[in-house]
Amino acid sequence: MPKALVIGGGVAGPAVATLLTRSGWDAPVFEARSEPDPFAGLFLNVAVNGQRVLATLGLDERLRSDAHHAPRMAMWSGRGKQLGVVPNGPAERPEDGGIVVRRSWLHEVIRDGAEEAGVKLTYGRRLEEIRQHKDGVTVRFSDGTEEDGDIVIGADGVGSVVRRYVAPDAAPSFSGLLGTGGFARVPGLEPTPGFQHFVFGARSFFGYLVRDDGTVYWFANLTADAPPTAATSEDWLARLRELHADDPAPVPDILAATPGPLTVYPIFRLPKVRPWWQDRAVLLGDAVHATSPSAGQGASMALEDAAVLADELQRSDVEQAFQRYEDARRERAEALVAYAAGIDKQKRVSRSRIAVALRDLMLPIFLRKAAADHSTDWIFDYDVSRRTREVR
Ligand SMILES: Cc1cc2nc3c(=O)[nH]c(=O)nc-3n(C[C@H](O)[C@H](O)[C@H](O)COP(=O)(O)OP(=O)(O)OC[C@H]3O[C@@H](n4cnc5c(N)ncnc54)[C@H](O)[C@@H]3O)c2cc1C
Repeated sequence: MPKALVIGGGVAGPAVATLLTRSGWDAPVFEARSEPDPFAGLFLNVAVNGQRVLATLGLDERLRSDAHHAPRMAMWSGRGKQLGVVPNGPAERPEDGGIVVRRSWLHEVIRDGAEEAGVKLTYGRRLEEIRQHKDGVTVRFSDGTEEDGDIVIGADGVGSVVRRYVAPDAAPSFSGLLGTGGFARVPGLEPTPGFQHFVFGARSFFGYLVRDDGTVYWFANLTADAPPTAATSEDWLARLRELHADDPAPVPDILAATPGPLTVYPIFRLPKVRPWWQDRAVLLGDAVHATSPSAGQGASMALEDAAVLADELQRSDVEQAFQRYEDARRERAEALVAYAAGIDKQKRVSRSRIAVALRDLMLPIFLRKAAADHSTDWIFDYDVSRRTREVR
């Protein structure tokens, strides 16, 4: 039985391991964390293209059982004026909208699916080194243990160690945005069924939704010159309350009701990675195309990668499969990264009043045009199962 050593137990790793196990591979997953993280980074949007991959894994219904369905996104100015409502999915198919889930729930669903398929997940194994030899690879972990396999799959996120082996020149850099967020309950705040709301605050960008049970999920993106030195600190909550003090309701109320401390994430960008594979090592997910959270697509793209890579490995020898996978995925991934970087630019806070006024004037026109032109449908219409059928 061929053996794939899968590095990283986030989204892409357990997904690709499940699909490979189903097609006759031994695909153990090695995760650096010592145990599953129950907090695991707030919440995220799983778009319809990612949901389709979860459907092939038989996990979409379970994920939806604890999700906020949000086919629309309402954008607001810092003065409380609605700038537009845009689809979070194909423009005219709200039933194909994105769902927002806690990240820990997404991880749990994918991890359980992997374990049910027979995948062995081992925690506390941080990859340090890859050694290539004639017939395969040996990997060494920080605890000194080693594993042999036919290939190694780098699903180890934006700080990927596998990428250092595959494409040593591609190093992540700080995007100029920090992400943070939390959960709260705000007495009297009504649920927002079908919607997420986004506010171009005067000094920081803010997003929120209210689930049917009244729980508020919120995040903020702060503009910064450098990543913070300490990620967790009560000070971030105090600072955010101050930054959003003049923003429209319910933003200040949500922050007032949020318990601290907050965790702050620097958002990184990655240059184009070339190539995506080397010898017997291949990259997927954030390891090869870290996508800013702004597009709500990183997890979905990681799932798409997993489906295409597993499919190619089922049909060709390793080198051919890696190349066909890269050929199939590169253009779409690079286009998506560029699209998300464009949204980041809008989120960075301008100190110029004229720039803000111009944005508030132009954005409604731009948003209406984008919806009318269906200009983002290409993101959501990608259907991995259709692609794999066509290639066959
Ligand atoms: C604040 C924030 C908000 C986001 N919001 C969204 C959103 O709304 N929608 C969306 O689709 N995406 C969002 N994303 C992006 C999304 O989380 C990622 O694109 C997605 O998780 C990528 O999956 P992955 O499996 O490639 O990497 P990850 O989920 O990062 O998983 C990588 C795993 O590898 C492990 N690892 C790292 N190094 C090693 C090593 N040396 N050895 C072993 N294991 C290792 C890590 O511990 C981790 O568990 C957001 C990201 C951030 C930071």
